Amino acid sequence: MTDSPSQLLVHDDAIRANTAYFADLTGGRVMAVLKADAFGHGAVARSVLESGASSIGVTSVAEALDLRASGVRSPILSWLNPVDADFESAVVADIDLAVSSTPLLMAVSRAAVRVGSRARVHLHIDVGMGRDGCPAEEWSALCTIASELQRLGSVHVVGVMGHMSCADRPEHPQNQRERLVFANAVRTARRRGLAPSVTHLAATAATVTGVGRGFDLHRIGAGLYGIDPSGVSDRLRRALSLTTRVVTSREARAGTGVGYGLDFVAERGTNLALLPIGYGDGLPRSASGRAEVLVRGRRRPLVGRFSMDMVVADTGDDRIPPGEPVTVFGPGGDGEPTAAEWARWANTIEHEIVTRIGTRVARIHRTTTSPTSPQEAMHA
Ligand SMILES: *Cc1c(COP(=O)(O)O)cnc(C)c1O
Repeated sequence: MTDSPSQLLVHDDAIRANTAYFADLTGGRVMAVLKADAFGHGAVARSVLESGASSIGVTSVAEALDLRASGVRSPILSWLNPVDADFESAVVADIDLAVSSTPLLMAVSRAAVRVGSRARVHLHIDVGMGRDGCPAEEWSALCTIASELQRLGSVHVVGVMGHMSCADRPEHPQNQRERLVFANAVRTARRRGLAPSVTHLAATAATVTGVGRGFDLHRIGAGLYGIDPSGVSDRLRRALSLTTRVVTSREARAGTGVGYGLDFVAERGTNLALLPIGYGDGLPRSASGRAEVLVRGRRRPLVGRFSMDMVVADTGDDRIPPGEPVTVFGPGGDGEPTAAEWARWANTIEHEIVTRIGTRVARIHRTTTSPTSPQEAMHA
């Protein structure tokens, strides 16, 4: 959809710089988390692997297989799958699999036997988040069974993983507890005869704040894309710009209402610009009445309730011609809103803004973060 009026520019340079920063911070122990289409950023595997990541982490086997099919040869870990997932294809494609329960471990083991191979497994302990991961009470039994299957040859336990619940608040006492649970879990695994070569607890926040450092790998997602959940780092660069173009514009008299329900009524004469992007493209409808965009170097409020396919910008005294470029969000260096501001307007987090941009928006990978000129935007 190269002629789509809205474009998501992916600044590969920023992703490379962020990856290199984390590689430096962790001594080269970065697993780049590319789940959910790389948090909405698209094909970035090459960028992260060339700038210091040593492996890749995703949620599902399907995501992992897509990466293999696109030529990625580095280790890939898939950590969340139902028991009937396609573990056979995963084992054949040399995908590491995290398991958090005995039924999952058995399913992976059986798939490995069926394809005549051995599954590379990471045992996942719930360190206290109460979400994914094996409950601590069942951990010892899971390790015992894994050890037995390893002896029989169907699995090879290469890793132990955990995930922290409060790492964005480094002073929270839960962090210390979760580190201890994790360290104990690794010890228990070793006592059951397992020899995991990679232990990994920290994601972005735990790495930036330091509360999850000291293990073999860091699973970095948000940080690669310039998002720091802890708000501590000033070294990260945002990597997306969402742009669109004005379709039509019009003068509006005082009293003109805009959009479903006429939530907005112009108090005085103004100009309105129609933008061909809406909640069907990922703009959060809950930001209606608060959000702004950048047009001709100035912030303009979006007025009225967002529609599925369009929103309306109030451009005041400026009549904006059709085709004029509009920046919905970007890194923020040129006065445009950031995804973080959109998150505040929508009462959510930045992750949700960047992962929801729809398929009608063309993804364009760029190697510089310089602002886009109108000509470039037209011909990109
Ligand atoms: C998403 C995810 C990560 C990455 O977390 P960030 O905070 O985005 O770095 C790491 N581990 C697991 C299990 C995840 O689900």
